[in-house]
Amino acid sequence: MSTITVLGSGILGLTNAFELRRKGHKVVIVARDLPWDRFSQSFASPWAGANWCSFASKEEIDEQRWDAKTYQVWRNLESELSDQIIARLNFTELSPAERGKEDVWFSDLVDDFKILPKTTDELGKGSDFAITYTSFTISVPNYTEWLVSQLKSETPLEVPSCLKSSKWGPPVEFIRTSTLGSIRSAAELVPGCEVMINCTGLGSLDLEGVEDRNVHPIMGQTVLINVPSFRSQASSSYSSPCRCVMKVGKSPIKKETTTRKTKPGGDDGQQEEEEEEDGKQASYVIPRARTGQVILGGSFQVGKASPLTPDKALTERIIKSCSQLVPEILGPDGKVDIISENIGLRPARHGGARVEIGQSVVGLLDEQGGKTRQVGVVHSYGIGPAGYQASFGIAEQVVQLTEKLLKGRQPHVRHSKI
Ligand SMILES: Cc1cc2nc3c(=O)[nH]c(=O)nc-3n(C[C@H](O)[C@H](O)[C@H](O)COP(=O)(O)OP(=O)(O)OC[C@H]3O[C@@H](n4cnc5c(N)ncnc54)[C@H](O)[C@@H]3O)c2cc1C
Repeated sequence: MSTITVLGSGILGLTNAFELRRKGHKVVIVARDLPWDRFSQSFASPWAGANWCSFASKEEIDEQRWDAKTYQVWRNLESELSDQIIARLNFTELSPAERGKEDVWFSDLVDDFKILPKTTDELGKGSDFAITYTSFTISVPNYTEWLVSQLKSETPLEVPSCLKSSKWGPPVEFIRTSTLGSIRSAAELVPGCEVMINCTGLGSLDLEGVEDRNVHPIMGQTVLINVPSFRSQASSSYSSPCRCVMKVGKSPIKKETTTRKTKPGGDDGQQEEEEEEDGKQASYVIPRARTGQVILGGSFQVGKASPLTPDKALTERIIKSCSQLVPEILGPDGKVDIISENIGLRPARHGGARVEIGQSVVGLLDEQGGKTRQVGVVHSYGIGPAGYQASFGIAEQVVQLTEKLLKGRQPHVRHSKI
């Protein structure tokens, strides 16, 4: 059994920890923000919708693999877990660009995929083209609680068949830290750590040993509302009241936000402004499973990290456009029942998420003294707007990379100081 440190406790840190434990490893999570910090704006994960809606293009093979794996796992989870954690809902995506079945990489993966006729009335004003399919939405607080309970329990019990294991590692330990300055300082906190998984999201911008200039925030504002009727209503078709709908601007979200290649320090000002304008046109309605709570979005403000207080005009715009998309969210008084207005920062990266073995290893003095212990690094950050829907696919790759590192390890040991 190897000891693995997961640095970061957002959805990538938690899912990576879950999959590593499932393969028999001892996992310690070290993070500034922990999963129960539900109102911390210092990390992205509490603020997501969250649903499955792949942004991968036909060329983005890694992203497709990550999203496909998660869709399959979520399909299993949905059939075995409570509908307060995860639910199967109809999802409709509206866009000004026409797409055929062959243009959508996941048309054969998802259930009930259809191209809707252009003239369908229910689609909302100004929408030109639409695709529809069965997707999954989670309640972020309930899903996180389920994941944490499985990480902490002696033997994970509430695990659906597709995630069963005969060799669970010990319960995962959580260690809270301040903002750590380096990968090394995290490795030093965990005796015997052999591999470090870097899941620090935006933290990778400043973390010594990573300092990735391609990492940047994409601010998103949302409105959380109550729609009690959504707890029970059926949702098998795009005309069902309780459904997920997203309307995108003139270009796909993923292209505009996470995959554009830039040189560090390059001048992207003009393009980012265009992206923001385009992103402002996106709107989405995501029921949080069957809890009756619904997330309305959204905005995709590339490079923006402050202020972290909601913009009232944007809230009004979101409510107006979402009520056009799904009028059933309005109460008898014609208004939405607001729980909170929220801001979250998606941890994006020009060039796409980084899921790979790091170039450098961290050398630590062994507790016994005198010997150098090598800690390998696997990166898992920069997933931007897709962290939940890619989580199990990324975790599968992280496990493979970790086991490759562990296999390649020399029996040991250099006798030198660092
Ligand atoms: C409004 C909004 C809507 C979204 N909707 C969806 C959706 O519908 N579907 C979907 O799939 N995704 C969605 N997302 C995106 C999703 O939330 C993110 O992709 C995901 O949360 C990223 O998770 P992460 O684990 O990479 O990073 P984070 O959640 O940001 O976690 C980073 C972790 O690293 C720790 N950390 C960072 N630096 C340090 C340091 N120096 N020292 C110690 N600890 C450190 C933090 O404390 C935290 O624990 C949405 C996001 C937003 C904001």
